[in-house]
Amino acid sequence: MELFDTHVHFLAQEGAFAMEPVMSRAVQAGVVGLVAVGGSCDLNKTAVEATQRYPGLVSAAIGFDRSQTDELMSMPLIDDAVGRLRRSVDGLRALGTRICAIGEIGLDYHYAEGTSVLQQSLFSDQCSLAASLHLPVVVHCRDAEEDVLRILGAYRQQCRGRELIGVLHCFTGTLGFAERLLELGFMISFSGIVTFRNADALRDVARTIPLDRLLVETDSPFLAPIPHRGKKNEPAFVRDVVNALATLRGIAPDALARQTTANARALFAFN
Ligand SMILES: [Zn+2]
Repeated sequence: MELFDTHVHFLAQEGAFAMEPVMSRAVQAGVVGLVAVGGSCDLNKTAVEATQRYPGLVSAAIGFDRSQTDELMSMPLIDDAVGRLRRSVDGLRALGTRICAIGEIGLDYHYAEGTSVLQQSLFSDQCSLAASLHLPVVVHCRDAEEDVLRILGAYRQQCRGRELIGVLHCFTGTLGFAERLLELGFMISFSGIVTFRNADALRDVARTIPLDRLLVETDSPFLAPIPHRGKKNEPAFVRDVVNALATLRGIAPDALARQTTANARALFAFN
């Protein structure tokens, strides 16, 4: 089975040694590609390290997620951060490092509604950066659907001529939200949450997403799928997400793995 985990975080505090066993179990499980996802200076750094250590297997997404507005407390600081990000991407690409997306970025009003205005600036500025770099975006959304759709609608306009422009990761929203994202040219990525007992509504959504827009992820080291609940999540467990989605949709796990891997390669220009 050929698996592609589209969303993995390598935590800085675990150090480079922790990557080795995790990556070898991933390869054994059939993982042929993964996106190491940033979101803060630390996470961006480990994502870049992962792609430099495993260049054939790993590509990096870098950016500033909504939690960074705690530090980037004003518009000039946000401008600075986005300017630095552009220079980082340019510099890394010149070195041959595989940067496949800007992410994760987005809005989260569940924990931090008070920073919503700054979150929106940081998010939309990074969408504009992604459009100008011809990179897709990896988007997080919690309790902020309407604002996310508005900002992604503007981003869609900036991506003229490109059909697929990003992914909504760890999808937990409604069918209506998914449909509007699909219209904008987004893929929908499901995590281990689809295996959780109380996730019937999410499974109903997962059943209806067109197969050519479906992605899978672990969001490691968080959210381990059943039957690994309570353990630290890792890319090898993306197989359990594939199995769950295949069962839901009544198709062979192999076929679902093949399709989601092809989708990931298409979105992230990963050969
Ligand atoms: Zn994430």
